[in-house]
Amino acid sequence: MRIAVDIDGVLADQVGAALRRIEQEYGQKYQKSDVNRAHWTFSGIDIWTEIARLLGDPEYALGIPAIDGAKAAVQQLSVHDLCVVTARWPEVEETTRQWLGMHFPCLTEYRHARVGNKQAVPSNILIDDFDLNILEFVKSDPDRHGILFLQPWSRNGAGVEEYEEQIRFCNGWQSVVRAVEEIEAEMHPSGKEQRGPLTLSD
Ligand SMILES: [Mg+2]
Repeated sequence: MRIAVDIDGVLADQVGAALRRIEQEYGQKYQKSDVNRAHWTFSGIDIWTEIARLLGDPEYALGIPAIDGAKAAVQQLSVHDLCVVTARWPEVEETTRQWLGMHFPCLTEYRHARVGNKQAVPSNILIDDFDLNILEFVKSDPDRHGILFLQPWSRNGAGVEEYEEQIRFCNGWQSVVRAVEEIEAEMHPSGKEQRGPLTLSD
């Protein structure tokens, strides 16, 4: 089974890191729970404009912490064929690959896809924290499954409710691992796991 995993908000605590920088640079303190939509703004600045600027600084980009529980879960899921898919622009790919190597050495397949266009990545499952990406992915093929990694900014009224039979809503990585197991059981009811190519952990 092939699983595509988003980076920001799923593997990397991008918003947490950005909010710390916003506090240092602007003196304004926010919590992740304040960031209640994808295009959340502070003082008229879109957080993604700010993140795009911050990512240009390799010290910031390499210092972003991994999301809680992600390392152990990715290790568990590495029996599958995993790839990362990100909308980060190509200029920061090298730094991003370096960050992945530090935290998730088993994730070596890297794909860039624009926001709302992650269905272009060949995969059975997409794990992403943005409802529009999940919606477009499951709409593209009735056999595909989406896992919405719930963050305070995940729901933006994209209409995921209309595709609930293909979408799971997960709070944290343990819940994601369970969801993948359920999807696998549905796809291979005989219980025989269809494995991806061998990985180092095999
Ligand atoms: Mg994301």
